[in-house]
Amino acid sequence: RMQVQRVVLNSRPGNNGAPVPENFRLEDTTLAADLSDGEVLVRTLYLSVDPYMRCRMNEDTGADYLTPWQLSKCLDGGGVGVVESSHCSSYAVGDVVTSFNWPWQTHAVMKGSVLQKVNPQLVDGHLSYFLGAVGMTGLTALLGVRERGHVTKGANHTMVVSGAAGACGSIAGQIGKMDGCVRVVGICGSDEKCRALVEDLDFSAAINYRQEDVPARLKECCPDGVDVYFDNVGGVTSDTVISQMNSGSHVILCGQISQYNKDVPYPPPLTVETQEVLQRKNITRERFVVLNHMSKADAALCELSQCVKSGQIKVLETVVNGIGNMGEAFCSMMKGGNIGKQVIKISE
Ligand code: NDP
Repeated sequence: RMQVQRVVLNSRPGNNGAPVPENFRLEDTTLAADLSDGEVLVRTLYLSVDPYMRCRMNEDTGADYLTPWQLSKCLDGGGVGVVESSHCSSYAVGDVVTSFNWPWQTHAVMKGSVLQKVNPQLVDGHLSYFLGAVGMTGLTALLGVRERGHVTKGANHTMVVSGAAGACGSIAGQIGKMDGCVRVVGICGSDEKCRALVEDLDFSAAINYRQEDVPARLKECCPDGVDVYFDNVGGVTSDTVISQMNSGSHVILCGQISQYNKDVPYPPPLTVETQEVLQRKNITRERFVVLNHMSKADAALCELSQCVKSGQIKVLETVVNGIGNMGEAFCSMMKGGNIGKQVIKISE
């Protein structure tokens, strides 16, 4: 038997309400370390916290592909770790593996069938990137832009990204530039984030929505209007961006985090004014769900890996240490405490 620590759901924040660290509880428990056929023992290296988890904190997630987290049960989400012993022919000791349903536990016994083996060379040994730039968030950014953005080289396109300094947003803007947008403008929640976007990631401009006059600054930064909008946040920010979009332009409906602590369906209803703008200007706004595009994942991950290695895509991360800080890190990310991908380092 092995001593391990895990994080369980202590309480729900309610459909209306911000999550707090007290919604999570750290526990000591033991793991029966004898493996059945097909099982592997893994040591957790990094865990991911993501906005969709807010839905899993509700009794009803509102999405058929998401199951609710259960009170007093171990939580789960994206994770990466290393195989310590194996009764599954596909895995050997030392293999690096990931899963979308990794338990929030320092070690775990998992079925080999729920794991994917990954090659550390793809990320030059930065294993946390498998949860971000060379994982789900990178895929969301790349495939979102490619499947919904209609970015055309030589067409002088302007892209706006909301939630621009976050995990998806920071990659999406760089993909937009790479694919030929002449201008990429980010909207985010602090001056430090604005500086990182412009100075480190080569965004054309950045707007702090908490401090600045967004409509006026957008006009200034996007003199030819907006052709592509990668929307991570929804709400007032998106109403403003959409009001400045060109005819025949495209919204990539990636997420609406400004509404996740409210009891509204997904996607949340638009204002009458915004609906009218979309219709009058013939703007597309189709929902994008990365899970529906996984047939393109292998090729896309290869491309992301190459871009990260070559430095064409720069990766920003906010890393917190220790399984005891999972709840804190999740709540911080939901309030904008992260620059780039929020990950938690569980062991060396
Ligand atoms: P981020 O790294 O972007 O973290 C969340 C960020 O949201 C915070 O840093 C904060 O930045 C911003 N934010 C929080 N509250 C608000 C608010 N009220 N108004 C504006 N911004 C806010 O997370 P991810 O990159 O993982 O996710 C970004 C979006 O992409 C989410 O909406 C998520 O649901 C969506 N997503 C969609 C997927 C899909 O398949 N469609 C897959 C993965 C993610 P700031 O300081 O700027 O406020």
